[in-house]
Amino acid sequence: MQIIVVGAGVTGIAVAYSLLKRGHKITLIESASSPNQGCSFGMAGFMGALSVQMLCSPFKGKAGLASVFAKTRRLGWDMSLGHMKFLRALANARSADKWKKDRNSLVELARYSVALTEFESRLQDLTFEQIYGLLRVYTNDTVWEEAHKEEEARKGGEWLDAQQTLQVDGSLENVQNMLGSFWMPQEMSGNGSYFSKQLQTLNIADPDLTMMYHTSVKSLIRSAEGKVTGVETEKGEISADCVILSNNLGAKPLLNGLLDLPLQTLTGWTITVPTQPLNSVPQHSLLFENKDVLVTRLGNRLRISGRFWIGDVSKDLAEKTVEELYQGACKLLPQSAQWSESTNWTGQTLIHPDSLPSCGKTSVEGLYLNIAHGLNGWTLASGCAELLSDVIEEKSPAVDPALYSPERFSKKN
Ligand SMILES: Cc1cc2nc3c(=O)[nH]c(=O)nc-3n(C[C@H](O)[C@H](O)[C@H](O)COP(=O)(O)OP(=O)(O)OC[C@H]3O[C@@H](n4cnc5c(N)ncnc54)[C@H](O)[C@@H]3O)c2cc1C
Repeated sequence: MQIIVVGAGVTGIAVAYSLLKRGHKITLIESASSPNQGCSFGMAGFMGALSVQMLCSPFKGKAGLASVFAKTRRLGWDMSLGHMKFLRALANARSADKWKKDRNSLVELARYSVALTEFESRLQDLTFEQIYGLLRVYTNDTVWEEAHKEEEARKGGEWLDAQQTLQVDGSLENVQNMLGSFWMPQEMSGNGSYFSKQLQTLNIADPDLTMMYHTSVKSLIRSAEGKVTGVETEKGEISADCVILSNNLGAKPLLNGLLDLPLQTLTGWTITVPTQPLNSVPQHSLLFENKDVLVTRLGNRLRISGRFWIGDVSKDLAEKTVEELYQGACKLLPQSAQWSESTNWTGQTLIHPDSLPSCGKTSVEGLYLNIAHGLNGWTLASGCAELLSDVIEEKSPAVDPALYSPERFSKKN
């Protein structure tokens, strides 16, 4: 088949790669001058299959909208009607049964995906600054006690006291009031942008791949019957048997008036800082549970991420959030990095209320989606690529396609 993939970030490159391997002809269209200039550029690099991030935590007593406001302090939003509708959907997604089901679906896809990424990296001999092990570190009694009751989120690891935690990672020696941690040795992090650039380089000479940079898709071309038959770009029309939107935020205007999906934009920040050449550099990923600080190590840099915001973000809010993140991380790991040399980055990603991606066929013939990966796009990239390739070829995927299909939001479902 002749297939157009829109967007050369981690998810677009992964699906283009998967389809090329299956013998399809791919046109990969990217508005920027090189791959991974969007949200994939500075993201945290965490790809822990068991620690995939949901937008909300499960319902614990407070009903409806109030519960969302009470528990998601990591999130901010403005109050337009669109956001209210989304927040209501988010409140529904918090019912204990639904949350557990969605989380299991997300973990299943993430496990499949991480295994595929590991397999591919061994096959092609790719390294991407991967590191194993996540320590979820606790410094607050209430959060520590609550965490011990959270059965779902605490699988695949073991509880350590403060002493044992320091034995696993000595970089935590300056953390005040450390109570202990939950140690997950299999959880992984790595440089997603670097990984997908290597995948892309592997294919550069493939005659079945046409790469188009500096090219923006303006609209979808549809036949009289409504089938998507190509795209309109500022350089002209390009035809194909089908089109995959893997272009994150850029998919929203292209879907306008075509599909009504509950989507919101999440904004987040990362700080990147060179490590100190000392023993006190983290050897694993560190998640400071009650401080909303995640630290991943990418080679000789630490990457710090934290809070996310739904909806509009003012300049003041952005500056305040980055400053809090910087101060928090600096205090927790003062010896680990050259803090004065830190740089900031901000990225945006789309998310559905259930935190699952839209990966699959749409009700519009010829149009497929690979979007709304939320906070887990790098983790899910390989899995979504394989799932979507199977759906396009009408094969049976290894995971249940209905769980991730954009069609789950259609009125009849
Ligand atoms: C602060 C932060 C931290 C994160 N940390 C993690 C993490 O640790 N682990 C994880 O798994 N995920 C993480 N994520 C999520 C992850 O970054 C995203 O899910 C992922 O990068 C999305 O990849 P993508 O390829 O779909 O989108 P992008 O990387 O945004 O790529 C989309 C591409 O499409 C192009 N494009 C858009 N519109 C058009 C158009 N009309 N025509 C042509 N080209 C177009 C853009 O230029 C862009 O290059 C994080 C996100 C943020 C914001």
